[in-house]
Amino acid sequence: MEQRSGKIAPVSLELLGAGRKLADKLNVELAGVLLGHKVDQIVNELYEYGADTVYSIDHPVLEHYRSEAYQVGVVDLVKKYKPEILLFGATVIGRDLASTVATELGTGLTADCTRLDIDLKNRLLEASRPAMGGNIMATILCKNHRPQMASVRPKVMKAIDPIKGRTGKLVEHPINIDENQLQTKVISVVQELGNKIRLSDANVIVAGGKGLQDEKGFQLVRELADVLGAAVGASRDAVEAGWAEHSEQVGQTGTTVAPKLYFAIGISGAVQHTVGMENSEIVVAINKDPNAQIFEKCTYGIVGDAFEVVPKFINEFKKL
Ligand code: FAD
Repeated sequence: MEQRSGKIAPVSLELLGAGRKLADKLNVELAGVLLGHKVDQIVNELYEYGADTVYSIDHPVLEHYRSEAYQVGVVDLVKKYKPEILLFGATVIGRDLASTVATELGTGLTADCTRLDIDLKNRLLEASRPAMGGNIMATILCKNHRPQMASVRPKVMKAIDPIKGRTGKLVEHPINIDENQLQTKVISVVQELGNKIRLSDANVIVAGGKGLQDEKGFQLVRELADVLGAAVGASRDAVEAGWAEHSEQVGQTGTTVAPKLYFAIGISGAVQHTVGMENSEIVVAINKDPNAQIFEKCTYGIVGDAFEVVPKFINEFKKL
């Protein structure tokens, strides 16, 4: 269960939602694994979101994420309690930890999944993810090794509605590691995004693509986002052109998002982009090509020149 400074990451609650369904199908218990220092306030939240048991390792070396320390903790727990399935969020931390844990345990890892299910007859996890440049969905089984491991993209699974007051079992696990054994030291922790709205948490996203022509054109996207209090998103081509940062890229090799409102401006709608935003509630697409693929994925489509349409949006929203 990923947490930073004692605050649970939304993807952890989504994993509990997905895990609850798998555990119910298999008729096994669902456990949350919580590593950190002085994070016991999270335990009740994990029960309320579906965990039957919480395995907790509390130690000063775990205060900030370091893969070598976290890996020791998770591997220790897996060897002792032998779970059938082990899930991670496909975040920066989760991707790093899942791969080192899988290597240490000598098992497979299906990374970046967007669907999980169970083959009940064989009690196998069916972990699906986009493959071949996003053109097919591959379902991957881990037949010969345990645990079956998968990392799951944020925003594709749903957390359950929390059940207030639901409780479970707490198992506190000791860890035999000390600071001097570790090769990395945390010198300071810097907040990454300042006042910017984090893409994966945003309710409204204004995303721009190559149709905006240059960095100056892409400023229109940032202006509209500012007026709406939205996060900025970008296609990979806009990122590769240097108009946006990689942290702003939406899609298969960027972030998966599911906001209430998503503007796609000058974005063609390639599958590698849409796979990252198709769970958005409302999609407004602005494109001058009436045949652009993005119109197949949108709620409202505007065929027009972004340089004429977007300034009008900005002016109208400023009046509100
Ligand atoms: P284009 O395809 O060039 O589209 C520009 C659009 O702007 C066109 O539809 C055009 O009609 C429109 N336009 C032009 N001028 C205007 C105007 N004045 N007003 C309005 N509309 C205008 N892409 C991603 O986005 N995210 C990913 O994570 C990603 N991962 C990838 C992974 C792999 C393995 C591969 C092979 C590709 C990946 N891509 C990804 C790239 C993807 O295939 C597309 O190339 C990319 O999404 C296209 O970006 P775009 O829509 O901005 O540009």
